[in-house]
Amino acid sequence: MPRLAVIGHPVAHSRSPAMQNAALRALGLGEEWSYEAIDVAPEAFAELVRALPAEGFAGVNVTVPHKTAAFALADASSEGAQRIGAANTLVFEAGQVQAHNTDAGGLIASLPRSPRGARTLVLGAGGAARAAAWALRAEGAAVDIWNRTEARAQQIHLELGGPDQAREAVDIEVRDLRAVVEFDQSDYELIVNTTAVGLHGEDPFVELPLRRDGFGPGAVVVDMVYGEGPSTLLRAAAAAGATAVDGIEILVQQGALSLRIWTGLEPPLDVMRAAAHGI
Ligand code: NAP
Repeated sequence: MPRLAVIGHPVAHSRSPAMQNAALRALGLGEEWSYEAIDVAPEAFAELVRALPAEGFAGVNVTVPHKTAAFALADASSEGAQRIGAANTLVFEAGQVQAHNTDAGGLIASLPRSPRGARTLVLGAGGAARAAAWALRAEGAAVDIWNRTEARAQQIHLELGGPDQAREAVDIEVRDLRAVVEFDQSDYELIVNTTAVGLHGEDPFVELPLRRDGFGPGAVVVDMVYGEGPSTLLRAAAAAGATAVDGIEILVQQGALSLRIWTGLEPPLDVMRAAAHGI
């Protein structure tokens, strides 16, 4: 009876248990596998994770505020987790903890087309921004990073954008990554909001340097923050003719990648999407 879970603090709001249990049922694994939510404070996180394999856990998702700690305690990690410095998926196998970051692949999978060669803007400089910047750059996009606290955007630029790391990257045509203070919104084919703006009703056109009427008509706009219904940012983007991608789609796609890692099976995306939307 393999067990799975999402570990966070708080975690009661998470839609992952409903989404992943629906997926397990659709795959015919509902009687064997289970997915639960575990709330643990940061100081107890590492000890809890070390105890999970003996309790029948095959792996876990990790969410705020534990993603950096999850990466740090792993015995082995994927290239993405290493470059991002954070993990949202752990696998317990042969006495080892393996770390992956499916937030990165989940963002790419949620886009309507490849970002290769596209000019992209990532708003924010937290954990979600690092995953987005790394993922977009690995796909061959040019990435500009803006953050309210400029020094944190500069830090991502230094850590992910240094010349040595660019040389290591495989088959990347467009290698630039820079921190920006001012920009022209209409220059971007893809804008990804990874800030927490909107989570508690903040107005993105007040808190972020975006204009409601500034989206290019062919642009794609992603809002990682999700709540009930489309966000203010995505409503404005759609009204301007841009393609809007919501945070639930990112949640679904990262969850699907995690499920594939744990089970080796093709995730039932439509089932997961419906469950994540509470349908
Ligand atoms: P984090 O590390 O705490 O970073 C928060 C970011 O938001 C920082 O860049 C911060 O800027 C910025 N910010 C907060 N309030 C702001 C405001 N009023 N104006 C401008 N910027 C503001 O968080 P995270 O882990 O990156 O997550 C960010 C958001 O993405 C969260 O809302 C989270 O729920 C969401 N998320 C969604 C998914 C998904 O699957 N859909 C996955 C991951 C994260 P400063 O540096 O200036 O403080």
